[in-house]
Amino acid sequence: MALQRHDEVVLLLGAPGAGKGTQARYLADVLGVPHVASGDLLRENRQRGTQLGRAAQAYMDRGDLVPDDLVVDMIVQRLNAPDAVRGALLDGFPRTLGQSAALEGRLVERGGRVRNAIYVEVPTKVLVERLAGRWMCRECQATYHEEFYPPSSHGTCDSCGGELYQRLDDKREVVANRVNVYLRDTLPVVNCYEQRGILRRIDGNRPIAVVRAALRQALGVTEGVRA
Ligand SMILES: [Zn+2]
Repeated sequence: MALQRHDEVVLLLGAPGAGKGTQARYLADVLGVPHVASGDLLRENRQRGTQLGRAAQAYMDRGDLVPDDLVVDMIVQRLNAPDAVRGALLDGFPRTLGQSAALEGRLVERGGRVRNAIYVEVPTKVLVERLAGRWMCRECQATYHEEFYPPSSHGTCDSCGGELYQRLDDKREVVANRVNVYLRDTLPVVNCYEQRGILRRIDGNRPIAVVRAALRQALGVTEGVRA
């Protein structure tokens, strides 16, 4: 398939822990379009001190959320870059129906659209298991997982011998809440694209290679063929 022009985007939706980040970079590469993550865009704009970045910073300094329209402005600006000539893969946005409306309003103004949406689906229980078992080294920031990637000696970093700790964000109750908030806000977005017939659900609770094959199939791209 392939995106034909600026302003045609593919959305990748999935809860925290669904493995979306890894899959997003892979998919963008296969499609030959940039991987645009809203969190990265916001960080880059603030660091570079762009007009949009400074506007966002002002909200954050007051402890307010950055308005959806401002994030959409950053996305639209990113779509103007030469490497987005055939569109982009959007990762992590929209998360709410309001964001979805803001994004589509701007795309339509420019003659663009959401071409496809993909929802990487993983059972809530599995998401919490994946996220809750993470441990990090205080010294070198290496990460481990108590079940999937344990250190050889409990509580100690394999690479540097540093002490391992669990970030507050990775504690079970906090993780479960984060997942539930995501599902509450984002499932309506998933349903909306599904009703329009442009959403594909992918079972993300399978080995990475199998998920990748399903993603390629969903977007009609064959391995090794650059779109
Ligand atoms: Zn370490």
